[in-house]
Amino acid sequence: MKRVPIYGCEFHTIPLKTKIFNSMKNTGFTTTALNVPYAKQDPHNALQMPLYESVAYEFDSAEQIEANFRGEYIAHVYSRTASPTVEYFELKLKALTQSHGAIAVSSGMAAITNTIMALTKSGDNIISGNRLFGHSYALFQKTLSEFGLETRFCSLSNEEEIEKLIDENTRAIYFETVTNPQLDIADIEMLSRVAKKHQLLLVADSTITPPNVFNANKFGVNIEVMSTTKYISGGATSFGGAIIDQGNFDWNLNPNTASYTKKFKANAFLMKVRKNVYRNTGGSMAPQTARFQIQGLDILELRVERCYQNCLALGEYLSSNPKVRKVSYPGLESDERYPLAQKYFNGVPGTIMSFELESKAACYSFMNKLQIIRRATNLNDNKTLIIHPHSTIYAEFTEDERIAAGINDRMMRLSVGIENVDDLIADIEQALK
Ligand code: PLP
Repeated sequence: MKRVPIYGCEFHTIPLKTKIFNSMKNTGFTTTALNVPYAKQDPHNALQMPLYESVAYEFDSAEQIEANFRGEYIAHVYSRTASPTVEYFELKLKALTQSHGAIAVSSGMAAITNTIMALTKSGDNIISGNRLFGHSYALFQKTLSEFGLETRFCSLSNEEEIEKLIDENTRAIYFETVTNPQLDIADIEMLSRVAKKHQLLLVADSTITPPNVFNANKFGVNIEVMSTTKYISGGATSFGGAIIDQGNFDWNLNPNTASYTKKFKANAFLMKVRKNVYRNTGGSMAPQTARFQIQGLDILELRVERCYQNCLALGEYLSSNPKVRKVSYPGLESDERYPLAQKYFNGVPGTIMSFELESKAACYSFMNKLQIIRRATNLNDNKTLIIHPHSTIYAEFTEDERIAAGINDRMMRLSVGIENVDDLIADIEQALK
């Protein structure tokens, strides 16, 4: 039976081949986003990827379906494993991250869980930064530890300290490109050096620094996990997650993927995730979500640029206001992490910032007076959002744990949106009075 040379549902090995795409290989981010070809030509030449909501897909004959199950005829089968609209989102991610392949899942947490489950087994350990998104921390410390995976937390700032934690059961080093709300930036090149030396995977949560500002492959990251709920969703439209394989790791080196390399070669990890972990745990992305997220990729660069300009303007305004004690945004030249932001993120270390007033009471009074900026916990909405991390995201932490995490009760986090910046400044100004 003829093998049909299509479908991201089979590991995204398909070259992105069309006349338009081939002649535009070196195009910019948004041009690429708008021109990634579909896996299969649309019968109506629709300019927007149609929304395929079907749960299952039909075959022409019993022989054809048998060939499909033997892996000899590639086609969509059942949407918990893969579906056309989600597949197109994955193809766009693959093109935009210039990676080996991408898998979309139901949330950022699903992306992290699937990745770690594919790379480890009971008795293994991973090394992780200790300043993590709270639910990632809880996933490692509580949920996965109950299944026999140990996470060795450390600051990830000291090469020797990391090396001391590595043993024969270590499988990966896990970190967030920019921590939130501290906005620490990892020394990614150092982490990559350690990971390579010990033949470990380097896994980055790059949610805060989307692919138009961070080139993971360039700095030696092997796997990226992202909450596409944030920037990529187009502005808090839907939940999603992505797992990106940069294609720069020899999967024979990980005992938990080695058996897949025989059959799937460079696709060992992606196939383990798709065929073993997420298919069986049921964390697929919904087609409607993919529709939002496809649009989100088209406008990602525009939104990041606007948020970044707003961040710089707000940072300058806040720094000049005597009521503000401290402003943190590594995109500002005055910030000590500015050189790392330049090196790793083209100067754009995400668009989240934090600032401090004199007391918790002052923060609450300020937040309650805001009229345009919204009191909410999400990141990278189109709207600017503010939160008081000490009393919310860190509510379950002891005071000692908060201090260790760099959180005090005078601090607020701003996720900067795309509003007209003069309105944001006016809102802050009236609330500070
Ligand atoms: N990673 C980071 C850095 C996050 O900030 C979040 C959510 O805020 C997640 C992962 C989890 O993403 P989701 O809410 O899509 O599961």
